[in-house]
Amino acid sequence: MTAPTASGPAAAPPSVTVDLGGRTALVTGAAGGIGRACALRLAAAGAKVRAVDRAADGLAELVERASGLPGTVEAHVLDLTDLDAAETAAAGTDILVNNAGLQLVRPIEEFPPDVFHTVLTVMLEAPFRLIRGALPHMYGQGWGRIVNLSSVHGLRASAYKSAYVAAKHGLEGLSKTAALEGAAHGVTSNCVNPGYVRTPLVERQVADQAAAHGIPPEAVLTDVLLKDSALKRLVEPEEVAEAVLYLCTPQASFITGTSLTLDGGWTAH
Ligand code: NAD
Repeated sequence: MTAPTASGPAAAPPSVTVDLGGRTALVTGAAGGIGRACALRLAAAGAKVRAVDRAADGLAELVERASGLPGTVEAHVLDLTDLDAAETAAAGTDILVNNAGLQLVRPIEEFPPDVFHTVLTVMLEAPFRLIRGALPHMYGQGWGRIVNLSSVHGLRASAYKSAYVAAKHGLEGLSKTAALEGAAHGVTSNCVNPGYVRTPLVERQVADQAAAHGIPPEAVLTDVLLKDSALKRLVEPEEVAEAVLYLCTPQASFITGTSLTLDGGWTAH
């Protein structure tokens, strides 16, 4: 068997031709990682993307990268712990991608309560407020797409990730509830559930994982991150963005209240 590496095969080229011309999409956490890939993919499909993040530099880079695409990307610097501002920012959007997130790897007895609170605020309460802000316009026009970046950790737990796992499990419930309420109004709500994606969020946790598990950093990828994945590679952000885009296509209009895993077989266990 080929030894697992952080680098995998290049993501396949886009397989679906999608025209989102005339649609407005809001993507949170768009300054990097999966959010950036989603913003670029939605803009490539013609959408007018409102890119939300607290990181102004990353947003500026994103806007530059998006020049020349059929759609547009507009930067909106916002810290999502400002929940009122989050709700206001979502008004008038046709597609909402709840993606912003953060991670801390610590045993529960050492987990700082203030970080637990922040993780739940950004990854569960802010999505609630963003959905709340987006629904009146979606209901008014009888069409809307809510895509929530959950994780395998919305379906399974891992040790030392209490806040993250709690937030993602909560997001799964929020997403299903939005699906039930939105169905009569042409609004779908789904989760996308990747395994480990090649992003800064994963790179940043290698040292903490090594300390928490008592193993060397170079063993984290094989012994922790990819241990339960049948496919021994990281997922690329662009692959996740394709799944997000798919949920916005006419072909996906009957898909709601579900969780689309891109986990290399992790949850097949
Ligand atoms: P990332 O760290 O690369 O990007 C997250 C973005 O969220 C950053 O740009 C950050 O600035 C932004 N953000 C964080 N807190 C914020 C706040 N208070 N206000 C505004 N913006 C804020 O992470 P990523 O890996 O791209 O993760 C994106 C989403 O995908 C997260 O919800 C994460 O849980 C989920 N996810 C990631 C992986 C993975 O392996 N990377 C796997 C499954 C799910």
